[in-house]
Amino acid sequence: MSVWVDRLLRDGRVLRGVLFEADDAGLVVGERHADAPPPGAVALDFAVPGLGDAHSHAFHRALRGRTHESGSFWTWRSAMYRAAARLDPDLYREFATAVFREMALGGWTAVGEFHYVHHRPDGTPYPDHAMELALADAAEAAGIRLVLLDTCYLAGGIGEALSPEQRRFGDGDAAGWLERWHALRETLAGRSPLVTLGAAIHSVRAVPRGDIRRISAELPRDVPLHIHLSEQPAENEASVRAYGLTPTEVLAEDGVLSDRLSVVHATHLTPRDIELLGAARVHAVFCPTTEADLGDGIGPAAELVRAGVRLAVGSDQNAVVDALLELRGLEAGERLRSLSRGRLAPDLLWRIGADGGYGSLGLPAPARLGGPLDLVELDDRSLRTAGSEPLQVALTATAADVRRTVVGGAAVEVDAAAVARRLGEIVDGIFEEDA
Ligand SMILES: [Zn+2]
Repeated sequence: MSVWVDRLLRDGRVLRGVLFEADDAGLVVGERHADAPPPGAVALDFAVPGLGDAHSHAFHRALRGRTHESGSFWTWRSAMYRAAARLDPDLYREFATAVFREMALGGWTAVGEFHYVHHRPDGTPYPDHAMELALADAAEAAGIRLVLLDTCYLAGGIGEALSPEQRRFGDGDAAGWLERWHALRETLAGRSPLVTLGAAIHSVRAVPRGDIRRISAELPRDVPLHIHLSEQPAENEASVRAYGLTPTEVLAEDGVLSDRLSVVHATHLTPRDIELLGAARVHAVFCPTTEADLGDGIGPAAELVRAGVRLAVGSDQNAVVDALLELRGLEAGERLRSLSRGRLAPDLLWRIGADGGYGSLGLPAPARLGGPLDLVELDDRSLRTAGSEPLQVALTATAADVRRTVVGGAAVEVDAAAVARRLGEIVDGIFEEDA
């Protein structure tokens, strides 16, 4: 497989006529200059390395346009549980396929799916990891790269049992979750190179400390581990009340902070939290469009970078599926809270989207030797982008300027109108019983 790029924006420079060669697994095995595309190569005009969506809950897409008018994070969560209750493996496969196709159209080449709807609504397991395989099937059908972040979710709050609507998320304890995780890894082995398995702990709220410690100690060291962290002040208050520690301090004491960890949101942090996260070289995954919609607040991105944290972005609730808007939103949040401009330079934004997103998911950096041959072709002469300097397209383009995505050396083919139609039908079906 080969892909030729007329103008490749990478490391802050535009390279002319770059020809990539990929092996059967879609990894870059060669890169050289060529004035024109050889026969059979995918030919792109202006492209950037692939952008990794480091935090998604695909089924939250059902809530788009139905929850934005009022309410709190916690009322939004009740609506989300109603949508979760409707999912079964067949519906989830179809729904996630449509959402992953929308992601490819939105400039995402890889997605970390933070997945916790594991079991039947009453909590009994499906045979053969049916919900997890539904997501793997969906990614393969859509042609997007998936890191399935299989999530441990055990409690309804610190010291509280799961509520009835949370029962399908639970595995009893860390041992039960680890057993299922290892079995899932065997089941996924040998499938397409597009799908790999990672792991997640839902949050300090939803997993007791003894179980957090056990997962961190027993999960294989090379597996990326994600956790929601300090999205809402209420989470911090509950942690301080129960443990006398912030959620970040809990993770530090329990040995969870390391360079394989990604903390999602990281919105409400103390100076001490920032120091701890930086010293451990974690990834922090900001989800700017979701955090704005849910009224979460704006996290300290620049301080985290200065402390040594590596940033990534994610689409989270998928009310917006637009890699460019997440990157732009990250910088916009910085400007709004600091009253100054140029906080995260455009070259850093591109690297946050590509190397940050892929690194957070345990993947090598895209569009480089040894990494996945994943690229996003953008229109830099559209109504929005015409006249932009190439680097600053990060601050002018939107998903509407995504011409094509390339994943593993193959151009992803998507019929946008068909995806929109299917998404509408699926979401209407999910909410029908509410009407
Ligand atoms: Zn989330």
